[in-house]
Amino acid sequence: MSLPFDAFLLTYEAARKAVRPKEFLTVSEWADKHRILSGEGSAEPGEWKTSRTPFLREPMDSLSEDSADEKVVFMKSSQVGGTEAGSNWVGYIMDHAKGPAAIVMPTERSLNDWVSQKFDPMANDTPAVAEALSKKSNKSSDNNAQRKKFLGGILYFKTAGSTSELKSTSLRYALADEVDEWAWSTDQGDPLKLLDIRLTAFGDSKMFIVSSPTVKDASHIEDAFEKGDQRRYHVPCPHCGEMQYLKWHNLRWTKDVKNPRKIASVYYACEHNGCVIEEYHKAIMLPEKGHGGEARWVAMAPDHLYKSYHINALYSPIGLGKSWTQLVYEWIDAQDDPKDLMVFINTRLGETYADRSHDIKPNALSARAEPYALRTIPIGCLVLTCGVDTQDDRLEIQITGHGRGGRTWPVDYHVIYGNPGDDDVWDSLGKYLKDAVFVNHFGKSLRIEATAVDTGGHHTHMVYGFSRRAAADFGVSRVIACKGASTYGRAILGKPSLQDVNWRGQTIKKGVALYVIGSDTAKHLLYNRLNGDNEKDPGERLVHFSTGLDDSYYDGLVSETYNPRKNRWELKKGKRNEQLDTWVLSIAASHHPEVYLHKWKKSDWERREAMIEPQNVADTDATEMQQPQPDVVDVSTNIGGKLQLSGFNRGGAR
Ligand SMILES: [Zn+2]
Repeated sequence: MSLPFDAFLLTYEAARKAVRPKEFLTVSEWADKHRILSGEGSAEPGEWKTSRTPFLREPMDSLSEDSADEKVVFMKSSQVGGTEAGSNWVGYIMDHAKGPAAIVMPTERSLNDWVSQKFDPMANDTPAVAEALSKKSNKSSDNNAQRKKFLGGILYFKTAGSTSELKSTSLRYALADEVDEWAWSTDQGDPLKLLDIRLTAFGDSKMFIVSSPTVKDASHIEDAFEKGDQRRYHVPCPHCGEMQYLKWHNLRWTKDVKNPRKIASVYYACEHNGCVIEEYHKAIMLPEKGHGGEARWVAMAPDHLYKSYHINALYSPIGLGKSWTQLVYEWIDAQDDPKDLMVFINTRLGETYADRSHDIKPNALSARAEPYALRTIPIGCLVLTCGVDTQDDRLEIQITGHGRGGRTWPVDYHVIYGNPGDDDVWDSLGKYLKDAVFVNHFGKSLRIEATAVDTGGHHTHMVYGFSRRAAADFGVSRVIACKGASTYGRAILGKPSLQDVNWRGQTIKKGVALYVIGSDTAKHLLYNRLNGDNEKDPGERLVHFSTGLDDSYYDGLVSETYNPRKNRWELKKGKRNEQLDTWVLSIAASHHPEVYLHKWKKSDWERREAMIEPQNVADTDATEMQQPQPDVVDVSTNIGGKLQLSGFNRGGAR
């Protein structure tokens, strides 16, 4: 019995395919052979050609099956094909390399965008990928928004916040995209590290980390790039032949004589000999050695363990991305707005942005410290307020002294250890605040006039409880419960909302109130003052420091950096920010409606000065010194906009 010839051929072909040794392919070879760029979401639809973006070849090929690399990092500007390199790798995995793989994006939205704009078009238009998908098991339960089975493997689609959901999954491959939008930590830990752990089961696992960078010192991708061997794409000068990598500051332009808003010409100045390199020269500069040119990636830190690559928009092939002239226009436009400048630096130069807030270094601040002891009152310091940060195992407390014109002094920094879920901790705080009465140079005592306690974390009700009983139990008045505003640009201390509710569900007027703090506003205030202090003489500075503060204080005070793109402050890598938070809270306390320090007029300060620093008054009126002076000044009320000081002579008429 014999098979009909056609049937025989089919069986033979299937058998031949089954035993055929797998073809050796790199990612770029696979892409050149199979990848079709779709009309949707692609500037140049049709067959993928690695020669069009030659600088992608080496990073892509480092992800090939036979490569020994386990981690490849790509820090990039936008529009240089970084996302396509990732898509090519995913297609290569599905058609060729096989195995379980995770695609991780920062958010649900970016993940959906990637699936609909990159993955689905590739699966539709690249036959090799479509085939791998069609041979999957047909059970619908195998495929959903979170995963897709293909012949020989499975793709998991995840957001950075949900990488912990992969904890029982072993991965061979992971694509970590736009990692600068990822959080440094979630409840489960650093999502990038969690992903790394998932890859340990496979001896030949690979991770591709791709992103445009964001803010200096708060950037995942820059961190990963710097730990890697920092490859730069070196291209030959078309005139002198010297190899160099392209840097923004070597771009030169001339303005039109008649219309200075118009750019007349743009060229790149060869770093070695100043040769004039025109943009069209890129056609001969970009091709790599072995592929018709001389260009090559050069590791600037060759002793580092894994490959990391950087590319910027100057390399965009002609016709893809922005031309040099367009970049110059964008650059000029961006000069007036830090947000635009940051977008340019991140997405065109592929570099991190350092806001002015970044310029303030902890050691420069500690060098400004003045020889006054903590828990004493420096001259000029007339009012005390306090901020308390609630952590899971402690309270951190900062007392800030205030003087005219926004001058501040840290007067004490104190930590009370213990679980804020226990009353003991709050009793300790009450006692600390009660005892915080400090004597100044003139023998006058000051006590804290208002205290703002952060309700963040898991102890909101304990904070409410303390603010209710602080006056009765400890004689400490004006303790307010606060939380940070969720929106940008709010007042440093907003209007309170009443939290206590009676059995009818009505709020109780004298019950506890929650105040919203514009933390970002207060942080701008601090950093602006710190920046302004740079050029001032010590006596003129607004933010003073005591030599009694240790290094961790300064480290914590400038632990955050402003991100203009997101309009928010971000914690620098590996830093703690309690010193900054308690400073912010203490400033918020000075805005307490019964203190209103930010609205004090000259006459208010003069009155306070006359009480606290009577020597100044004595200069003009000697008899003033004979008058009984207050021992403790702690209560000021602002009624009808007019400040009144009351409650001095707390010690009673003697
Ligand atoms: Zn040259």
